[in-house]
Amino acid sequence: MSSWQPNAVFVERGLENSRIVSNVRTYYPNAPVHVFEPPLLLQSQDFAAAKRELVIQRHRGSFLHHCPAGTPGLVCCNYLVVHLGANCPFDCSYCFLQEYLASSPGLRLFANVEDALSEIDTILRRHPQRRFRIGTGELIDSLALDHLTEHTRLLVPFFASRANAVLELKTKSVAIDGLLAQPASDHVVPAWSINAASVIEQEEPGTATLTERIWAAQRLQRAGYRVAFHFDPLVAVEAWERAYRDVIDALSAAIDPQRVAWISLGHLRLSLGLKRVMRERGRGERLLAAELVPNSDGKERVWRGLRLRMYRTMLQWLESWDAKIPRYICMEPAGVWERTFGEVPSDQEVAARLMGPTR
Ligand code: SF4
Repeated sequence: MSSWQPNAVFVERGLENSRIVSNVRTYYPNAPVHVFEPPLLLQSQDFAAAKRELVIQRHRGSFLHHCPAGTPGLVCCNYLVVHLGANCPFDCSYCFLQEYLASSPGLRLFANVEDALSEIDTILRRHPQRRFRIGTGELIDSLALDHLTEHTRLLVPFFASRANAVLELKTKSVAIDGLLAQPASDHVVPAWSINAASVIEQEEPGTATLTERIWAAQRLQRAGYRVAFHFDPLVAVEAWERAYRDVIDALSAAIDPQRVAWISLGHLRLSLGLKRVMRERGRGERLLAAELVPNSDGKERVWRGLRLRMYRTMLQWLESWDAKIPRYICMEPAGVWERTFGEVPSDQEVAARLMGPTR
């Protein structure tokens, strides 16, 4: 469990006796609880303070969305995201939620997860010939608040019994008790965003350290899960070769490559709006000082030559660790794929490789 705790809890009327509210009362007995009728209008101006206003509500509308990498011009891996909440107990300096959720303060958890499962079930049954990769970690950390949400208790058995889908649970936490409590399934892949130790220390306050993340992945592998890793965002820190080589060495010392479902690489990307918010909040000074170049998707990245050098170097290291680990780069155009992998696979091909048979 992270050190996050709510300063106040807002519960939509009708959910007072839900399991999630009961968990909140157990873990945070001193947090004041207010019952509200929607819409809830929170006034918090400060984004960090807003993360401590916990809102428990029903989600109305669709839970499933296409991942933003489906932006025209970028090669995509056909990933679907399911939103079971919005906002995160951590506060990474580069996090896009600072901009994306600026007008929607509060950390929202959706209590009607059964509705999400029913929506997913309909899609999976409608397309039995297709294979889906689905993740919950787009707008929330998939595991950090599992002690409240109990998502793993619901999601693991659900996906374990679905032949045509794999669920990815992306996290920067070590909240793995819920996963350890049930039989592992190859249809559930816990995944860690991973980075150079200095980037984690400086830019990802409150998250688990590199060593802790690798330890958690190792424990889950030993419990029978496949795991995944995302080097995202890669940051061109000084002596980046040494910094990232150390991460791969640490991974290869602890992790069985045959039970790694996939590894992705993606460079830091900042929209102008996000840069503005970061400056206003005094976050990520070191990242903002880098020379960044605008790209066709409206986001700025380090120049293409440096991105290619970092991708090629890291892919080579990963290949020498185990050439069979499925690898891909994230949110990059065809030209970068071509010069990194020597080919531009279609979105379906990327997805098929990542969904390939388990070894
Ligand atoms: S863990 Fe992810 S969602 Fe949470 S603050 Fe960091 S970047 Fe944002």
